[in-house]
Amino acid sequence: MNPYSLDTYERPVLTPPDGAERVLVHSCCAPCAGEVLEAIAASEVDMTVYFYNPNIHPRDEYEMRKQENRRFCEDRGIECIDADYDTDNWFDRVKGLEAEPERGERCTVCFDMRFERTALYAAEHGFPVITSTLGISRWKNMAQINDCGVRAADRYADLSYWTFNWRKKGGSQRMIELSKREGFYQQEYCGCVFSLRDTNRYRLESGRERIERGIKFYGRDEICGR
Ligand code: SF4
Repeated sequence: MNPYSLDTYERPVLTPPDGAERVLVHSCCAPCAGEVLEAIAASEVDMTVYFYNPNIHPRDEYEMRKQENRRFCEDRGIECIDADYDTDNWFDRVKGLEAEPERGERCTVCFDMRFERTALYAAEHGFPVITSTLGISRWKNMAQINDCGVRAADRYADLSYWTFNWRKKGGSQRMIELSKREGFYQQEYCGCVFSLRDTNRYRLESGRERIERGIKFYGRDEICGR
């Protein structure tokens, strides 16, 4: 019996590594989480969400993304762990990588940091598998994310990273539909201060306006690229 109340999409049954029945899901934001969490729930796999994203800048943006994610989880009875916003550690780790482009070395360090904390929590609380919602975004490099996830899980003997490609089998399309259905907040940059800088730079060079944070929502506004 499915423990969560969900919508009625037809989805394939997913099997986590080693047939694990319990997964700790690192979540970056509600739009990415929606489809991933519903796909896991539809496969009747027990899950807990771990929200650890000290990369998100500034603080009010972080709070907004977190609240959207928490609301979605609470509506479905999915436990959501609210972890630290230890931005000093994040800035320490990416020092010297400020000029890196998105999907470059700074992002590897950023994923490593978030997944290492997720893996630690999983090991301390008996989760055999971790995964992340980050991979469903078309802006991300799936191989880069999976490498970071596997590296983090490999720190612990009994922990695996689930490398499933959430974009496949209709996942990307459902992600957008579900975001509209839920009216999720639509962020227009990845998260860190450097991605905000670079997205604004690109937009200005393309003759567009700077990002206005906190005002766009799926279903209410035209879905646009960065
Ligand atoms: S662009 Fe995104 S993934 Fe890369 S460092 Fe910034 S917040 Fe992290």
